[in-house]
Amino acid sequence: MIENTDVLIIGAGPSGSVAAAYLRQQNINVIVLEKTQFPRIVVGESLIPRSMDHFEEAGLLSYLINQNFEKKPGARFIRGEQICVFDFSQKFGEGQNWTWQVPRADFDLTLANAIVDKGADLRYNEEVIDVKFEGKKSTTTVKKQNGETYQINAKFLIDASGYGRVLPRLLQIDSPSQLNPHSAIFTHIDDIRRPEGREGTQISFDIIETEVWLWVIPFSNGKTSVGIVGPTDYINQLTTNQDAGEALQNAIQKSDFYVKRFGDLPYEFNPIWLKNYSAAVTKMFGDGYVLTGNSTEFLDPVFSSGVCFATESGLKAAKLAVKELNGEDVDWQIDYEDYMKDGINVFTTYVKEWYTGNLQELFFHQPENPDVKEKICAVLAGYVWNKENPFVKKHDSVIRNMAHLIKMVKEMDDSSTK
Ligand code: FAD
Repeated sequence: MIENTDVLIIGAGPSGSVAAAYLRQQNINVIVLEKTQFPRIVVGESLIPRSMDHFEEAGLLSYLINQNFEKKPGARFIRGEQICVFDFSQKFGEGQNWTWQVPRADFDLTLANAIVDKGADLRYNEEVIDVKFEGKKSTTTVKKQNGETYQINAKFLIDASGYGRVLPRLLQIDSPSQLNPHSAIFTHIDDIRRPEGREGTQISFDIIETEVWLWVIPFSNGKTSVGIVGPTDYINQLTTNQDAGEALQNAIQKSDFYVKRFGDLPYEFNPIWLKNYSAAVTKMFGDGYVLTGNSTEFLDPVFSSGVCFATESGLKAAKLAVKELNGEDVDWQIDYEDYMKDGINVFTTYVKEWYTGNLQELFFHQPENPDVKEKICAVLAGYVWNKENPFVKKHDSVIRNMAHLIKMVKEMDDSSTK
């Protein structure tokens, strides 16, 4: 017998959970299929404030507040002796002033338990292996842990399968990212030398070389996530025998700021190596389905935008799905794909300009320009749809032009002192 549901969601990560929570608020029947058993380790531990809006609107914030996750009021970037700290309360425009830095195993489990509490039918250890469409109706084939398969008919399908990229693979709508290939290796470390106060809990990104940086994300449970990111060739060369542990150890040794704190400490789990992580799709929706979160596009971890895009798209998709189920016309191109692309394009510029070094010029320029800083801060907080912010509206030129100006002034200063 084939089961029936209104909405089927593939994946119980933040994107799937936010979508499910919103749909349950509208009394829509939802089945969520998750191929793993939570808690499970996944990367993406530094959130940005915009996602707090999504958790609030989906009725999930109260569940998260109870968990006592480490608060993240901003972020610090380090380049040798130079330090640039962003404080989300000092940003341009409206918006949330803080968020959390979270072990995703606990965070995602909290969200998953919350959607079950709201009445979603969440099924762990059930993997989507095939989807067939007939008009807008889909039939999804599911494989259980014991190898048995069964099918579910859905009026609407949300693919929130993250790195699983279920529909992009099945429908062949995967597309290469326009960003250069980068890779990362990370683990958690028992942070036994964590300094007292803000220094101990400060989320930081230590720039080893223009395109290479180490992340340090302290959690409230005493563990800290440490990861290295860089061009794939660079990361490969950190080890001679493909040993992720050796590669991460060599990377930590390159961080003058953090080598004493983490250099000789054991790992909580074998470091995870994520190769060429950027991904894109040729389209984000079709008849009877939408892709959300990492199943659509993943850029780069440098500005921690991944979970925010996952929750923004999950919420947006759920809202539009409700309209469609109610028989209203939905323009998925304008109201979903174009909208998401607007935000993605802003972050794409910031990621690209980070790796050219132009954005780093702005971050570390002295004396700081508070006006510029608060506008960049709003982008880093995830408010990338606010066109009143010139650093959103003119993202494709403003960073490059300002960096050019800074370099010219530097060159003039250098030549006048010679
Ligand atoms: P996921 O969190 O990946 O969840 C998808 C779920 O779908 C998974 O639980 C998976 O098991 C399930 N699934 C997959 N296939 C199937 C299937 N066939 N059937 C059923 N279920 C399936 N983002 C940040 O915000 N902050 C960061 O600091 C950050 N750091 C990152 C560092 C690196 C190196 C990388 C590569 C990414 C980072 N990200 C970060 C991005 C972040 O990991 C993702 O953007 C985020 O997890 C996306 O959420 P999601 O819900 O779309 O997918």
